[in-house]
Amino acid sequence: MSDLDHAVGIAPAPRSSSTPHPGTDTVGSTSAESAGQPYAYQRRPLVEPDWRRLPGWRSVTVEEWRSAQWQRTNCVKNVRQLRAVFGDTVPDTFYADLERDQSDYATMPLLLPPQVLNTMAPHGPPTMDELYADPVRLHMLPVASDRIHDRPSHPMAGRDSLHERDMWVTEGLTHRYPTKALAELLVTCPQYCGHCTRMDLVGTSTLQITKAKFAAKPGDRLDAMIDYLRRTPSVRDVVVSGGDVANVPWRGLESFVSRLLDIESIRDIRLASKALADLPQHWLAEDVKAGMSRLATTARARGVQLAIHTHVNAAQSVTPLVAEAAKAMLDTGIRDIRNQGVLMRGVNDSPEKLLDLCFAVLDGAGIMPYYFYLCDLIPNAEHWRLAVWEAQQLQSSIMGYLPGFATPRLVCDVPMLGKQWVHMATAYDRDRGISYWSKNYHTSAETREAETLHRRHEYYDPIYTLSAEGQAWWAGHDATTAGLDAPTAGLDDTTGDAR
Ligand code: SF4
Repeated sequence: MSDLDHAVGIAPAPRSSSTPHPGTDTVGSTSAESAGQPYAYQRRPLVEPDWRRLPGWRSVTVEEWRSAQWQRTNCVKNVRQLRAVFGDTVPDTFYADLERDQSDYATMPLLLPPQVLNTMAPHGPPTMDELYADPVRLHMLPVASDRIHDRPSHPMAGRDSLHERDMWVTEGLTHRYPTKALAELLVTCPQYCGHCTRMDLVGTSTLQITKAKFAAKPGDRLDAMIDYLRRTPSVRDVVVSGGDVANVPWRGLESFVSRLLDIESIRDIRLASKALADLPQHWLAEDVKAGMSRLATTARARGVQLAIHTHVNAAQSVTPLVAEAAKAMLDTGIRDIRNQGVLMRGVNDSPEKLLDLCFAVLDGAGIMPYYFYLCDLIPNAEHWRLAVWEAQQLQSSIMGYLPGFATPRLVCDVPMLGKQWVHMATAYDRDRGISYWSKNYHTSAETREAETLHRRHEYYDPIYTLSAEGQAWWAGHDATTAGLDAPTAGLDDTTGDAR
């Protein structure tokens, strides 16, 4: 390795038996004790895959790679740009598969920072088979052949499946839980994820989805949020999200968070950024580090817990640069960085993959495993979603390996209700894949009448995971005939543009 290579921990050579890469290399060998366990813990070093293995980036320097500006400028936004990076290491059939997904299924635009693309098939020039099976590719670069063609969406899927808009107390401020609120500052991200729960609003429109839009001016919206939070001292915890806060110009983000810190009743502030893992260069920029230090100092002086929540779904996404960004943020004095991943088939659907990911974020980057959500009931997501029983098995399988404080909770975000641990279903019709859930609080979308606390709320397993009898039942039912609550707007409903 050259000195330059050491600067970012680049894997030294493509595909050889000794080439280190995430998931196969260990700091120490497996002990005799762990070798007999269902999961054999091994401490794995983080590796930055060598971007120079890809034809389009052969001459990219370490300085360029570490530049947030270079990363943003060189994001891949279309098939032509992807070809320029991968070249003919990837056959035309893959690009055709991607184009078909863009035209027939995609609910999110294509936007991949080089940092993300570089973690796909990281061991050498990507082969077709590696790319198709790769967990990062599977969720960040979906292709048509991934989807379930005869039923890509569950009949109960909807564009705003969590009904966040129904719980807006002012535009973009969701008040679902008694003491917590979610502030959506903007509708863009440095990267777009096909499984995004806010696909109704976040990102530019795709051929399939015309995105909803905020009606108010950004400054007015944020003023209204602050005004509501000042008037509502029962809210002690604010998630500052979007979109991704890495796309808020720093001065604007610092100003909003400073205004939150001025509200005496707010005790917890969490900044939501998948970019900590997908564009760590942003969080390593000097102005961002200096600004976060100012916010952390104020938060500590006022006894407020300021944290970053990120979203990592695969162990190989945790590279030395991600760890460096996480350390830089923790060094500013913030309380914590926590990971909220999404459970997805092929990505992190086994105990081994989940535990590898949890140990990678915890050991490698000092990030706390926190939640894994079942993928939400959004359009064209059926191939990603797991059934509740699968999540229950996963939760049981990962118990006992991580420290208790770092053992993530697997949760179902139940429409109209909110997060519930996957074992909390009050009833479960396994034939039809319908789980029933209850809650002990009123959301802002409901009246405060006692009966709303006794209402059952449903979540639906993917139909292809059901018994033959269950699949036959759904073949004869849709959202209007199943005797179930109707979903929110469907795939082609764009009536909410001025929301
Ligand atoms: S980063 Fe978050 S908000 Fe942005 S597209 Fe991905 S899941 Fe959605």
